[in-house]
Amino acid sequence: MPISALSQPHNAQPNTTDPLLAAAQDMLLRVFGYSEFRGRQAEIITTVAGGQHALVLMPTGGGKSICYQIPSLLRPGLGIVVSPLIALMKDQVDALLEVGIRAGFLNSSLPSATQRQIEKDIQEGEIDLLYVAPERLLQPAFLNLIAQVPLSLFAIDEAHCVSQWGHDFRPEYQQLGVLASRFPQIPRIALTATADERTRLDMIRVLHLEHASVFISSFDRPNIRYTIVEKDNGKKQLLDFIQAQPEGSAGVVYCLSRKRVEETAEFLQSKGLSALAYHAGLPQAERIRVQDEFLYEEGRIICATVAFGMGIDKPNVRFVAHLDLPKSLEGYYQETGRAGRDGLASEVWMAYGLGDIVNVRRMLAQSDSPPDIKRVETAKLNALLAYCETATCRRQMLLGYFGESMPEPCGYCDTCQSPPATWDATIAAQKALSAAIRTGNRFGAGHLIDVLRGELTDKIQQFNHHALPTFGIGQDLSEAAWRNVLRQLVALGYLLPDLDGFGALIVSEQARALLKGSETLHLRALSETKPKNTRSKSYSSDLPSDAQARFDQLRVLRLAFAQAQKVPPYIIFNDATLRDMAVMNPAHLSEMRHISGIGEQKLQRYGQAFLDRLNELRAQTIDAPVVSATIVSTIALDQAEQATKVDTLQATLELVHAGMDRVAIAEARGLAIETIGSHLLKLYQAQHITLTELLYITPDEIQEIQTTAQDLGLKPRQTASKVLKETLQHRYGYADLNAALWLWH
Ligand SMILES: [Zn+2]
Repeated sequence: MPISALSQPHNAQPNTTDPLLAAAQDMLLRVFGYSEFRGRQAEIITTVAGGQHALVLMPTGGGKSICYQIPSLLRPGLGIVVSPLIALMKDQVDALLEVGIRAGFLNSSLPSATQRQIEKDIQEGEIDLLYVAPERLLQPAFLNLIAQVPLSLFAIDEAHCVSQWGHDFRPEYQQLGVLASRFPQIPRIALTATADERTRLDMIRVLHLEHASVFISSFDRPNIRYTIVEKDNGKKQLLDFIQAQPEGSAGVVYCLSRKRVEETAEFLQSKGLSALAYHAGLPQAERIRVQDEFLYEEGRIICATVAFGMGIDKPNVRFVAHLDLPKSLEGYYQETGRAGRDGLASEVWMAYGLGDIVNVRRMLAQSDSPPDIKRVETAKLNALLAYCETATCRRQMLLGYFGESMPEPCGYCDTCQSPPATWDATIAAQKALSAAIRTGNRFGAGHLIDVLRGELTDKIQQFNHHALPTFGIGQDLSEAAWRNVLRQLVALGYLLPDLDGFGALIVSEQARALLKGSETLHLRALSETKPKNTRSKSYSSDLPSDAQARFDQLRVLRLAFAQAQKVPPYIIFNDATLRDMAVMNPAHLSEMRHISGIGEQKLQRYGQAFLDRLNELRAQTIDAPVVSATIVSTIALDQAEQATKVDTLQATLELVHAGMDRVAIAEARGLAIETIGSHLLKLYQAQHITLTELLYITPDEIQEIQTTAQDLGLKPRQTASKVLKETLQHRYGYADLNAALWLWH
């Protein structure tokens, strides 16, 4: 039977009298604390719980794990989950233990005594769900061990690892076919977030899923907003983008090279953001430390090469930014897909310009790949560039690339929200191409623009280019407008970079029809005003300010529990649950029970503590005077920012009044010390805290900073520069430097 026929729902309306479905729904509410299944979860669960095989294709964040966890618990015996991501197993098992499921994992990272204990637990039926690495599962002794106990199912996670076509190929995965011959009666469910047709056929063949039901979900990630901007000053644009996010948002910034990763992290740190650097060149211990900090602390921004991400399952990554072009649309979808796994609104953003396209086009041309591979790579790059330059809905284009059609524009990407103007650029393109031809296909964008605009530069005179008929024929467009035209001509393949890397642009064969006038060309117009980063749908700033204050306080409490148990905060409660709690503001445990994500065990463990915190906050808002609006008026903030900023300053102020120092506040709030430092300075400027509460350096140290600043030509009350920090051998953080500069008269 064709796959498309199989993928149709068996039964569009779930049959509520189905006892399996009723049991699954009961378990969903009681154990996991959710009242409804999402998407096709219910169908998948009843299929597998009923003893059938299944192949599940679902995007990241679609709720895959519940599709095997619930059937495994509904069926008698041990459920075995095969996963290649050893780094993730502990988190997955911790999350299950939190909701009261007897789960464990086995991989090479465990001491052998622990491994033996788990094997004993398996024999004695003490474990219901076991996560295991494929190489471990395939050991004959282990297969013999599990053959002696009742088994509920096999779940093969990241099943695309069976395919050599994918970039995650794992040879051990190809041997998992043994499960079908050795345990033919046990249901197998294979799951992946990869949609590619060829990979799908490989999964069916290797895992013997010919008779399995296939469930394909839409790969749309409706909570993600896609934005791409023209790069002029990439780092500054990145900073503006990050500063438009709610304070304390965790995010990933992807850069092409190790050097760019380090520079970007340093730049963001200098602006008071808690940024981390991650790339393959760091010692392993440092990589682990950075990864753990990103997972276990809140609000970290990680600057990374694409080496970072596989094995990261942090659900509340609020944004993903690309400061350099990804390799392909597949890569882009995967990297941006790390945002918003919790289903809450998330932003993905990219800045790219002419230089980036010239670079990637040249790298591809210079690669040693065989011609047929190169053809595939060129096609992939062209698809990516067309996506960057599109004037139509990005989501439609992205999903279309993966073979999924979306009938209407999404209304929630940058091109939908502020549609770019397009214009007939045929003549402009002909002028630009002609300038390249007349100058011998030997010059870069800057010189071509000078020729077009008739700028009498030294270089123009040196090459006698002012004598060309094309000289000055493009005075109707600004330099920026020409740059915009040239970028699109390179993106669309009419101009190609030279292979020597001198930046020359060469007219391609493809341009012939355009030059002859037998083809017309429409391009995106230069955006006149910088698109404003509206945050109308943002998850945090759309909370009413009192709920936002509760949310901030509940986060502090959650972090305390997480640190005590050495688990990431989202294992205690995810952001969506915490947000509901802040909005509903329950006063009794019975109300707490109705909040999504709170099952029986979590209610028992944490319900009272979170309830007490909410009751305290209620009491405080009645007694304590609210920080006056003068904080806001003394600091120039635009109106939209005021609500969230005043809350975050107030949260810091309350902790100062509770007698906490800067380090303790930073820890409790999950923010960087530099960020708290900037809060303290603002609070001091608005006269809400004393000088003693502001300062963490001695009068001598203040003197030293001020003298050095004077030597460097800085002015009183200026913001600290990187040079100042370096000159003082990094002995002071920006918070201290800025405080000293503020006090300098
Ligand atoms: Zn759209």
